[in-house]
Amino acid sequence: MSIRFDGKVALITGGAMGIGGATAQKLCSLGAAVAILDRNRDAGQATADALSGAGHKATFHSCDVSDESSVKEAVDQAAQDHGGVNVLVSNAGIQRYGNVVNTDSETWDEVFNVHVKGCFYAAKYTIPFMIRAGGGAIVIVGSTQSFTAIVSSAAYVAAKHALLGLTRSIALDYARQNIRANCVSPGTIDTPMLRDAAAASGTSPQDIIDVCGRMHAMGRIGQPEEVANAIAFLASDWASFITGTSLVVDGGLLVPTGGMGLQESGIANAEGTK
Ligand code: NDP
Repeated sequence: MSIRFDGKVALITGGAMGIGGATAQKLCSLGAAVAILDRNRDAGQATADALSGAGHKATFHSCDVSDESSVKEAVDQAAQDHGGVNVLVSNAGIQRYGNVVNTDSETWDEVFNVHVKGCFYAAKYTIPFMIRAGGGAIVIVGSTQSFTAIVSSAAYVAAKHALLGLTRSIALDYARQNIRANCVSPGTIDTPMLRDAAAASGTSPQDIIDVCGRMHAMGRIGQPEEVANAIAFLASDWASFITGTSLVVDGGLLVPTGGMGLQESGIANAEGTK
């Protein structure tokens, strides 16, 4: 058994940048042919071109994951270009803020359509190719917000929780066809999404990165490559008996009772002297 993907085809939604971009790079470096599905044409094409220029097999397919016909068309084209689909990384996502009172229906639907329907459509149209190939692996990108909540993120938190249920459903329904489905649940990761959110809030990206870093037990936020490593593991044969579960990749964000504030308050410290 190997962590390599030689001869395998991986389809990555939201693969233009951030966690998806790092995953495209990682899976290519492990021998996969990669199809990037993304709505951001310029960034998606640039990522595919950079990978192809480095000698990897990579294609870009313009796709809005919230649009069923767009997903079907992109999946079919990617499968035709590469000769099938063995791995799906369902990663495309957006962040929107609001509580249930001030979130409007359009925003709620937008978040659910991208995260939940987008994953449903991607699985719906890739699984038949995996069955034809005798099996496959699906990795869904959830979040620590698949387990916990932050304030003013009702739609995002609910959608990320839903992805855990979808992971389990797919895992159960296709286990006998040798298709595994797992979730990775990242903590705060330094991607364009994080930096855009910082810019929109009027806070400097470095301030956000510093504040978020202090919330993680390891004292820093994560890099996209650190999530890509976990995705590669779950998609590979090294995870051959792992299905229907979630791997938290959060530098200890979810570990401390009462958050890091309590740990840093002096009530307790790592040496056990207080
Ligand atoms: P980025 O915004 O950096 O990259 C996401 C990519 O997905 C972009 O290219 C984006 O295009 C694309 N995308 C968005 N919506 C669609 C759509 N409808 N159809 C196709 N492509 C789309 O995000 P991250 O890398 O930070 O996030 C990736 C995943 O990881 C998301 O699911 C996110 O929720 C999750 N995550 C991120 C964390 C973080 O701290 N960054 C923490 C935990 C989870 P465009 O540029 O046009 O928006």
